[in-house]
Amino acid sequence: MTPEMLKAAEAVAASTPVSADEAFTAEDREKLVADVEAYCQELRPVEEIKYLEREFNPAITELAKKHGVCGMPVPKRYGGRGADSLTYARMLARINREGSGPRTFFSGQSSIGQYPILKYGTEDQKLRYLPKSCTGDLILAFGLTEPDAGSNPLEGTTTYRKEGDKLILNGVKYLISNGSIADAVIVFAFPEGAEGADRRMSAIIVDTAGDTFEKEQLHSKPGMYTCDTAMFQMTEHPVRADNLLGQEGGGFRIAMHTLVSGRLSVASGCLGSIEDCLAECIEWAKTREQHGKPIGRHQLVQDHLAKIEMARAASDAMIERAAIAKQRSDDHPEDKGLLAEADYRVAQAKFFASNAAWEASDHAVQIFGGRGWSELYRPFRHLQDVRVCRIYEGTDEVMKLKMGAHLLGKEFDAFR
Ligand SMILES: Cc1cc2nc3c(=O)[nH]c(=O)nc-3n(C[C@H](O)[C@H](O)[C@H](O)COP(=O)(O)OP(=O)(O)OC[C@H]3O[C@@H](n4cnc5c(N)ncnc54)[C@H](O)[C@@H]3O)c2cc1C
Repeated sequence: MTPEMLKAAEAVAASTPVSADEAFTAEDREKLVADVEAYCQELRPVEEIKYLEREFNPAITELAKKHGVCGMPVPKRYGGRGADSLTYARMLARINREGSGPRTFFSGQSSIGQYPILKYGTEDQKLRYLPKSCTGDLILAFGLTEPDAGSNPLEGTTTYRKEGDKLILNGVKYLISNGSIADAVIVFAFPEGAEGADRRMSAIIVDTAGDTFEKEQLHSKPGMYTCDTAMFQMTEHPVRADNLLGQEGGGFRIAMHTLVSGRLSVASGCLGSIEDCLAECIEWAKTREQHGKPIGRHQLVQDHLAKIEMARAASDAMIERAAIAKQRSDDHPEDKGLLAEADYRVAQAKFFASNAAWEASDHAVQIFGGRGWSELYRPFRHLQDVRVCRIYEGTDEVMKLKMGAHLLGKEFDAFR
């Protein structure tokens, strides 16, 4: 963290109304930064090998447990580190310098796993799920997407029905981060047999144990080999009725609100990819020699470097704005205006940073020449990993439509 970032994070923390025990202090931040750094340094050699072997990397979660970083944005009273939005965003950027795979685990665990439980859960739900997830003894995921329902989750077909003190779920969820390693998933489902106005989506915390919950890792993905992407099928899968999250029928609102948190995590991750590309390229441009001098002395190579740096600086600024807006909204959950502002700024940051990372990693690949087009070197790994950031947690097109509606007014909302 640069001194400017630290100052901005401290300003956010100072404006956050929490009790003394809950406050995220300067010492807490320093300790978290150090723990994340230690996590990243220990993870790097294992991640390098697992990426080249194109395998899931269990060290992502094992080392996260060891360094106590499984619940960074969760309040201390539930076992988390209590980090504000901006500090957490910076930590995700740092982690994503190791790759989008490791960062995606944290998005699934914290940004879209712990976050909706924290925001919409009952005290009992929070106590049953948050402390264990903060130690890493419970892995979380967010199950919205289905084979036939992506950008429009309202086209989903997963159902639930009430039977005594149970909810019985049926349906398939597709492309779910942490989906085959999760102990519990926030699943979105419709009441069985409901039509018209009664067909309203609910959010349910679904424990994954039992043979009525079948999961399968999805391997045919170019990049992000080391994190878990999965599909799962629920067949008459029973869940405690008191695992309904928030109001019955309020699932769409929970999903959209949670995606604001998830999108900020994706944007932050993209910043990390750009930062790592820049660091790698500076080193390479100083040491690789062609035509009798370091390639960094060729002005066309400097052009690539300048473009990566501009992508970094602009993404950084947009993420900071977005994180501050999200923190304000989280601090005043009843204020719809602040939520709309956070939603807008986060959509902008996600759209901008994911495209900036795609372009910056392309410049980095070019600086590395023939070695650039190889998984042995970090720029190509970033290039191939960040492409999905323009798709998941809301596509580029969906982000643009959100911005259009914000600029033109609700009556222009493309989704109405
Ligand atoms: C690696 C990975 C991890 C993921 N993790 C998760 C997860 O943890 N949880 C989860 O729930 N989902 C997850 N997803 C799913 C992801 O969020 C969806 O893939 C994404 O929302 C797009 O949905 P889709 O794939 O069905 O594409 P579609 O919705 O079919 O879209 C196809 C194309 O049509 C465009 N399009 C659709 N509607 C419109 C419109 N109205 N106007 C203009 N263009 C439109 C889209 O922008 C896109 O270009 C993950 C996906 C991937 C690849």
